[in-house]
Amino acid sequence: MTLSTASSDPADHAAPILVKDRYFKPLLSKEAIAQRLAHLGKRIEADYQNDLPLFIGVLNGSFVFAADLVRYIAIPCHFSFVKYASYQDKMQSSGVVQELIGLNENLSNRRVVVIEDIVDTGNTMVKILAYLREKGVEDVEIAALLVKPTALQHDISVKYVGFEIENQFVVGYGLDYDGYGRNLDSLYVVSDL
Ligand code: 5GP
Repeated sequence: MTLSTASSDPADHAAPILVKDRYFKPLLSKEAIAQRLAHLGKRIEADYQNDLPLFIGVLNGSFVFAADLVRYIAIPCHFSFVKYASYQDKMQSSGVVQELIGLNENLSNRRVVVIEDIVDTGNTMVKILAYLREKGVEDVEIAALLVKPTALQHDISVKYVGFEIENQFVVGYGLDYDGYGRNLDSLYVVSDL
């Protein structure tokens, strides 16, 4: 689903909010997110019947998305988290990605779905995919709440996309601005106000 900042979502007409020292305007309501997640969950469920998939959430940003998404998936599954650091400015990723916390699970011959908050340049995802393939997974797909197609610098295929957005900084629903805003229950985009 492609989204422009001129979305018809009713949340768009709400007032901007202040997160730390910047204003953000509503981009996606919690209802719109929930509706999309229900759809993605059903697709994943259908694709992994009898496969005992391993879902891997990428901390920190995916903790809300991953928790909500897996509750729309009613098949047996395993779940784990990995944490990577992408050294970044408050609003820009630097392109340097370093592993912080790996996985304890035996990954050989597992069908894996990586659950990521947002694919921006794709640097983080390239690193994670390489790590998982090195560990011998049978196959790996990506579920991303948000994708910024114009920012993508790698040939990555995101099978389960929540929303495609413009190349603008977003916050809320697990995503932060300098540590703030992860607890917002919907998504906001930086505003020029
Ligand atoms: P990538 O490696 O694809 O460039 O960036 C991945 C990570 O950068 C995401 O998991 C997220 O933590 C952070 N990121 C990229 N774009 C945004 C954004 O618009 N807002 C926030 N809060 N984080 C972002």
